[in-house]
Amino acid sequence: MTPEPDGRLGDRVVERVVFPEAEIDRRVGELAREISAAYRPSDRLLVLGLLKGSFLFMADLVRRITLPLHVDFLVASSYGAGTVSSGEVRLLYEPRVDLGGRAVLLVEDIVDSGATLERLVPMLRERGAARVDVCALLHKRLPSVGVAVRWVGFDAPNSFLVGYGLDHAEDFRHLPYIASLE
Ligand code: 5GP
Ligand code: MG
Repeated sequence: MTPEPDGRLGDRVVERVVFPEAEIDRRVGELAREISAAYRPSDRLLVLGLLKGSFLFMADLVRRITLPLHVDFLVASSYGAGTVSSGEVRLLYEPRVDLGGRAVLLVEDIVDSGATLERLVPMLRERGAARVDVCALLHKRLPSVGVAVRWVGFDAPNSFLVGYGLDHAEDFRHLPYIASLE
C-alpha cells in the first residue's frame, strides 16, 4: 500500500516526520565521506548490514563510499513482542566469508538498548576481524549502552521511529523519511 504524502497508510497515520528525506540524504553523504577517509584499500573493507532495518541505509551509504569494499548482511532477531527490545539476540543468517584480517563495518539502523551490538561486535572480533567499527543511522543515546558506535547519523528521540528501513509490524519500511508513531 502506498502512503499518502502526509504518511497516512490505511487507517494508521505517521504522526510526525522527524528526519525528512533531504536531511537523511545530506547526512548519509557526510558519513560516506568520513568512512571513505577512515579505511585504506588494504583493509579489505567488508560492510555488513543488519537486516532488515538497514537495507535502505546500506544501499545509499555504500553507493557513496569511494573505496573497494564487499557487501554482506546479517539477520539477527531480538526476541519478544512489541516495541521494547528484550535483550536476547539470535542470528538467523550470517555470512560465510572469512573475516580474517579484514576491517568490518557493521551497519545498524538504530541503537536502542545496545543489546544487538553487544552480542554481535565481540562475535565478529572472535571470528578474526582485524577491526570492527559500527555505523548506526540513529542512536537513542540511552545511558546503559556499552558499545562504542563510531559513526552515528542522528541522535534519535526516545520514541518509536519508522520509515527509511524501520518498521512497525513490517509496515512503513519503504517511507523515504523517518517519522515517529507517537
Ligand atoms: P537494541 O538491541 O539496541 O535494543 O535494539 C536494536 C533494534 O531494535 C534495532 O535494530 C531495531 O530493529 C529495533 N528498534 C529499536 N528502536 C526502534 C525504533 O524506534 N523503531 C523501530 N522500528 N525499531 C527499533
Ligand atoms: Mg530490527
